[in-house]
Amino acid sequence: MAELRFSYGVMSAGKSTLALQVEHTWAAAGRTGLLLTSHDRGGAGTVTSRLGLKRDAAEVGPATDLDRLLDEAVPDGGFVVADEVQFYAPAQVEALARCVDERGVDVSCFGLLTDFTSGLFPGAARLVELADVLVPLPLPVLCWCGRPARLNARLVDGEVVREGETVVLGDTSAPGGALFGPEVRYQVLCRRHWFARDTGPARA
Ligand SMILES: [Zn+2]
Repeated sequence: MAELRFSYGVMSAGKSTLALQVEHTWAAAGRTGLLLTSHDRGGAGTVTSRLGLKRDAAEVGPATDLDRLLDEAVPDGGFVVADEVQFYAPAQVEALARCVDERGVDVSCFGLLTDFTSGLFPGAARLVELADVLVPLPLPVLCWCGRPARLNARLVDGEVVREGETVVLGDTSAPGGALFGPEVRYQVLCRRHWFARDTGPARA
C-alpha cells in the first residue's frame, strides 16, 4: 500500500541526507520517481546535504502546478521524495496526498515542522493533518546546553528575533560572511533556551 510519510526535524537534523538516501534506494530498486525540493541551500533545483551529496531535483515554488508535474513525471506505482516540504503550499501537499490515493505513488516528505516563531509552517501543518505516517528524524540534534534541540531560532546580527518574513534563507553553520544587509543565521535551541533567547556562550 502506498503511503504519505512525513519525516520531520529541526534544522541540521540530516533531512536532506536522508531524502537523498531514500531516493537512491527506490531508484536502485528499479522504481521511477521524482525528487522535489524548494529553496535548497545549494540553489534552485538541487537537493544538497551537508555531507556533500548533491542531486538535481524539480523546484517547487508558489506557482508550481504540482498535480500536473506529478502526472507528467511520475508513473502509477512510482515514488516521490519531497524535500523542504515546509515551503510547499497546503494545496501542493494535497496534490501529493491525491497522488498516493489515486495512483498508488509512495510519497516520502522531509522538512521542518516549525518556523523561527515556533509556529507550524502551513505546508507542514497540512502534512501533519494528512500524512499516513509521521516520523521524527532519528538523528538527535542538541542545543548548546546538551538538551535536545526542539526549535529553530533566527538570529539577525547575532540577536534572536521573533518577527519577520517566514522565509528568510540564512546560514545554519557559519557565523558572519554576509555580503549585503544584516547577517541572518539560524540556530537550533532547546525549548528553555528558545524562550530565554539564549544562544549560549559566544562562539570562538
Ligand atoms: Zn538549551
